[in-house]
Amino acid sequence: MSVTDKGRENMEKKDCSGDIVSRFLRGEEFTRKDFVKLLEQKENPKVCECLQKEALQLRRQYYGDKVYIRGLIEFTNYCKNNCYYCGIRCGNPHVKRYRLSEEEILSCCDNGYKLGFRTFVLQGGEDPYYDDEKMVSIIRKIKEKYPDCALTLSIGEKSEESYRRFREAGADRYLLRHETANKAHYRLLHPEEMSLINRKNCLYTLKKLGYQVGAGFMVGSPEQTLEHLAEDLIFLRELQPDMVGIGPFIPHHDTRYAEEQAGDVEWTLFLLSIIRIMFPKVLLPATTALGTMDVRGREKGLLAGANVIMPNLSPKENRKDYELYDNKICTGEEAAECRQCLARRVESVGCHIVTDRGDALY
Ligand code: SAH
Repeated sequence: MSVTDKGRENMEKKDCSGDIVSRFLRGEEFTRKDFVKLLEQKENPKVCECLQKEALQLRRQYYGDKVYIRGLIEFTNYCKNNCYYCGIRCGNPHVKRYRLSEEEILSCCDNGYKLGFRTFVLQGGEDPYYDDEKMVSIIRKIKEKYPDCALTLSIGEKSEESYRRFREAGADRYLLRHETANKAHYRLLHPEEMSLINRKNCLYTLKKLGYQVGAGFMVGSPEQTLEHLAEDLIFLRELQPDMVGIGPFIPHHDTRYAEEQAGDVEWTLFLLSIIRIMFPKVLLPATTALGTMDVRGREKGLLAGANVIMPNLSPKENRKDYELYDNKICTGEEAAECRQCLARRVESVGCHIVTDRGDALY
């Protein structure tokens, strides 16, 4: 039975009627208006349940009960950008800034490797201190020492030349959330000198260079509308990324959005299911932000179609300083403690963590 037939059957069984939902499950070409109509169905618990079931079925079909883990190394919280929602934006004078040395980064990998990680993610603010030469050296050392591991970068917008050098040095993947695909909304959340066009171009360049690419957005960011979310889904459809990172927006006390409402957990789960259905093979993390908004957020994410978790391998003493938003979880634990806690959480929803690079399926 095809995925689509299965989806339709689920629909009929559950009676989550509605033409728009069946059209979505049949994989029909959707306009922005169609996506808005689909998103309006969030108010209908039967539709939520039906999409969740379908997403979970697809996740199981392609990945079984396997959950891939990525060891996140937050190697610098210096940033030259001033994204208005982000705790480590350059305009925040209250951040205790830190940088990890090459040795410190390698020691995080070492620790991670022993814990079963086969993907390392180097994430940071856009920190000019790590110029191309320094990045290339770090990438080479990690790939030399751990040839069986995948290396993911998440260090923002760079030139094509830099991306090419990092790729040639051995980087396999790149995470660069587009944040919002709507121009006016992007403008609202970022200062003048940043542009959505540049960010989107970076994603296309990364694809062209042969990276496995991850895009994504925050759910419930200030002034976000259903139309914006519809545009996010349309942009993802156009880009066809290998990974999609979404998580609730969470206010940070030292930003202009300190008093804003955080993004909603149920909305995030609804969108995770929609994304799994749109891209059945996509690598989809249940994010730390989701776990911050709900103690069982990541487990719920797995049940909504996610299949990746990205625990922290950063040194314990730096973790609280990589504060993108308030109350971030797992800032007081050692990597080994996180790993054990995660294994339990993942098993509680019938999944298990695998020691595997977890590359994109084609
Ligand atoms: N400098 C890198 C890494 C950014 S941090 C880059 O530009 O890609 C990783 C992600 O954290 C961001 O892409 C953003 O989506 C998310 N983030 C930042 N501030 C946040 C907040 N207040 N709430 C939730 N997520 C946030």
